[in-house]
Amino acid sequence: MTFTDDEVEKLVKAGEIAARVRELGAQLVKPGATAKEICTRLEEYIVELGAKPAFPCNFSVNEVAAHYTPGIDDDIRLTGIEVVKVDIGVSLDGYIADTAVTVDLTGVNEKLLQAAQAALDQVVKIMKPNVRIYDIGKTIENTIKRHGFKPVKNLTGHTIGRWLIHAGTQIPNYADRTSFHKRLRPGTLVAIEPFATNGRGLVRDGGIVNIYSYTGRRGRYGLSEQEEEVLNYIIEEYKTQPFTPRWLTSKFNKQVIQETIRSLTAKGVLHAYPILVEVSKGLVSQFEHTFLILKDRVIVTTCPECG
Ligand code: MN
Ligand code: MN
Repeated sequence: MTFTDDEVEKLVKAGEIAARVRELGAQLVKPGATAKEICTRLEEYIVELGAKPAFPCNFSVNEVAAHYTPGIDDDIRLTGIEVVKVDIGVSLDGYIADTAVTVDLTGVNEKLLQAAQAALDQVVKIMKPNVRIYDIGKTIENTIKRHGFKPVKNLTGHTIGRWLIHAGTQIPNYADRTSFHKRLRPGTLVAIEPFATNGRGLVRDGGIVNIYSYTGRRGRYGLSEQEEEVLNYIIEEYKTQPFTPRWLTSKFNKQVIQETIRSLTAKGVLHAYPILVEVSKGLVSQFEHTFLILKDRVIVTTCPECG
């Protein structure tokens, strides 16, 4: 598989937009600001720049590693004692960029951020067509450990397809022997996202769910009129891409949304993405870029300045 010039152009453009949105995100993370203000602004900014969110703005704080986005009723107000991960997905006609930044408001966790940032910088250096997945993981693990932290072992980078944020191949954040013979071939789009922690290095399901996606299956049990209506809207707007109930409030009332999302999830029509929390409540940092692997070169789409 390979990319046409037109596809490369769209992927590069999506990456440039994602980079601008990520930079704004980093600027907006300040004591007193809320997750909902920031995420709403970033999601609007994506649209202003001519694209759509590929998934809801992820705003994961302290021991929450991923998958928090403000809900219809829940929000987070920053107080100044947080390590904040802002993770942004941009879709330009289904051509996706995925990127993340961490901001330290505590003033004492700069090294934790440096660990994940340095790991990603090292990957930028070694990335080339046909690079071994094992070598990427080893580089990430070694760099994070050299900084005195652990990689989060059950969070991975991933290949990306059209309209598809997780296309099937995982890129572990550690030296994984089972990936020794696997390589990233030309024609691959891949997100690399080192997570560093001062905890045990594992995440678990944290219970709260504010992100869902349509599974592509309408279910075997039949749907009520209300379920049909909400589901049709979700399919129309987001296809199988992740969305958040917060986005449905312009169309449906809160009670209808909450009821229907619950029943559609129970019927297996919607997939739930619970927040992922570090098992020992360790603080977590994350940096992420999207890499477009071509025949003779690699473009870091979300890092225009990486050259
Ligand atoms: Mn991401
Ligand atoms: Mn990702």
